[in-house]
Amino acid sequence: MSKPLVALLTVAGVSTDSGIPDYRGPNGLWRRDPDAEKLVTYAYYMGDPEIRRRSWRMRRATFTPAVEPNAAHRAVVELERSGVPVRVITQNVDGLHQLAGLPDRKVLELHGTVRSVVCTECRARGPMEDVLARVDAGEDDPPCLDCGGVLKPATVMFGEHLDPVVLGEAAAISKACTVFVAAGTSLQVHPAAGLAGVAADHGARLVVVNAEPTPYDDLADEVIREPIGTSLPGLLRRIAS
Ligand code: ZN
Repeated sequence: MSKPLVALLTVAGVSTDSGIPDYRGPNGLWRRDPDAEKLVTYAYYMGDPEIRRRSWRMRRATFTPAVEPNAAHRAVVELERSGVPVRVITQNVDGLHQLAGLPDRKVLELHGTVRSVVCTECRARGPMEDVLARVDAGEDDPPCLDCGGVLKPATVMFGEHLDPVVLGEAAAISKACTVFVAAGTSLQVHPAAGLAGVAADHGARLVVVNAEPTPYDDLADEVIREPIGTSLPGLLRRIAS
């Protein structure tokens, strides 16, 4: 039998085990401080320097580069190193798949990443940590060093579109894969949720790993209700063997 081509869709549930806050969940950051939503809404961010200053202060307070990948992230790396072609499509912005050791090119970040910043004028990118160091040094709204434009985290803010190139690639992978694992997602937010349907329509084996029922459970070949941290490593080892 030829090797499976595995596509893995991961969302907040995969990283909450690592202590990454789930922004919109019941205990999500934005629920606790409704005004915080302005800090990540493009129009407010671009239009109001005070919002940008608050946004950088909030990042400074919450950015934790030392967050550790968990068993689920490590299991994906193990799968990749076993020689199984694997691609991760993720809504997470924490960069933990790469931190666990997955090559950057294997990870499609639908919502971008908190580990980089991007200039809204010239699109230059750089490490988040460098900009936070400038905030520490007293720049409360650090501009782009190349062109002086407004810098923002390289995440997709409310009011911004997902990158069509990234989305197109995610769709192509979903069509081409032989196994599609949706991990830690209630599969209710499109377009990511729709990818599970695309994969199933194109003949992939669909595996849903989620504590709660999802709209795709009936379509799935296998549904696993156990916590991701314990179930995903076993599932991926089974796929690899
Ligand atoms: Zn620039």
